Amino acid sequence: MEFKFSKQEEKFRTEVENFLKEELPTDWPDKSMHWPGGYGSIEIENKENQRIFLEYRKKLAKKGWLTISWPKGYGGEEHSYMEQAIFDEVTSYYRATASGISTGIAGPTILRFGTEENKKDWIPGIANAEIDLWLGYSEPNAGSDLASIQTTALKDGDDYIINGQKIWSTLAHESDYAWLIARTDPDGHRHKSVSLFIVDNNTPGVTIRPLINIVGVHSFNEVFFDNVRVPKKNIIGQENMGFYYLMTALDFERLMVGIGGFRRVFEQFVEYVKQTEKDGAPLGENNNVRQKLSEIAVKIEIAYMFFWRTAEMLDKGNVPSVESSALKLVTTELSRNLADVAMEILGPYNQLMPGSEWAPFSGMAPRGYLDSISATIGAGTSEIQRNIIATRGLGLPAR
Ligand SMILES: Cc1cc2nc3c(=O)[nH]c(=O)nc-3n(C[C@H](O)[C@H](O)[C@H](O)COP(=O)(O)OP(=O)(O)OC[C@H]3O[C@@H](n4cnc5c(N)ncnc54)[C@H](O)[C@@H]3O)c2cc1C
Repeated sequence: MEFKFSKQEEKFRTEVENFLKEELPTDWPDKSMHWPGGYGSIEIENKENQRIFLEYRKKLAKKGWLTISWPKGYGGEEHSYMEQAIFDEVTSYYRATASGISTGIAGPTILRFGTEENKKDWIPGIANAEIDLWLGYSEPNAGSDLASIQTTALKDGDDYIINGQKIWSTLAHESDYAWLIARTDPDGHRHKSVSLFIVDNNTPGVTIRPLINIVGVHSFNEVFFDNVRVPKKNIIGQENMGFYYLMTALDFERLMVGIGGFRRVFEQFVEYVKQTEKDGAPLGENNNVRQKLSEIAVKIEIAYMFFWRTAEMLDKGNVPSVESSALKLVTTELSRNLADVAMEILGPYNQLMPGSEWAPFSGMAPRGYLDSISATIGAGTSEIQRNIIATRGLGLPAR
């Protein structure tokens, strides 16, 4: 066991950092102030920031960095997963996380389980940042228990006809296609009757309605499918195998952690504490503040260990299934913990939002405080991650 990066990895990190400093506006990291791990602060309402970000993603795609660990024939650079992790860590530190549903979930799942036709149809558009997908998993009566989905996709000649409703569909209104699970055999076994589809948002019968989240942002939607006709070639892999593909797709989703964001916010907060006085004494002398910050520092290191470990496992050809759940659990709970601690240390002014001249720490903490709860729910709740660890990791009976 060697706790250090190779020379090549260090060189790559510097290359990525230099690229980000060159390509992003100098005030970018502070412009898009979001709390790591949260969903609600996704920068979707500022059109100028969106434009800058899209251009940046296109440049990454041109360099092959949007999909750096993918095979060369599919738009990738065949870098190691460790280098992919370094890339993700640095970009999230600079608040420029480039990996999303298309490149982080759909692409890798198609590469692993898709037919050659699937790869030809979808991989180039994903690798070139030309198409965005949203996740069509949850339904009003199926969240943690996705095998309960009721949306159906029934064969009709050369098409499938989709009927049903999805909910909590993050950024569906900003995306081009749904990455959707639907039941293709309503009488079949609940795990062996589900298939995975890509569905064009513009198909007649698709209706997307906004849901406003806890921080007042339109990030969620509910999406209705009313006799939506989808060509047979849009099914991913084999019919009725979707639930098995989904298990891997969920592991990929749990690996998409903006780990560097934690370090950056924490560094900024420690700096704030160093420069602030309370009741005539430096805040950093307060014992409670010191204890709380030290505890968070340790938790961030633990989260990093899980992060690098999953990359190392992927490089060795292992599937980090329990580890991806542990990583998701540790980081999202850390997100809440960090926000709780920041709110406690900031005191009564902590409720002032960005824009108020009296808001301490630029008003980041209250938004993070509200938003970070969502991180412990999306991509499988903390309870579900603990269940996975108990079952797959500890060998306890499945429930
Ligand atoms: C910010 C955010 C973004 C999201 N984005 C998307 C998206 O883009 N696409 C999408 O499809 N979905 C999305 N979701 C939905 C998310 O996947 C579900 O909310 C989540 O899986 C929980 O499902 P549920 O809301 O139906 O709650 P339920 O499954 O009804 O759970 C309710 C409570 O019961 C607990 N519980 C359930 N089962 C068990 C069990 N077996 N053991 C112990 N406790 C249990 C849960 O932990 C939870 O506390 C998003 C959610 C959030 C918060």
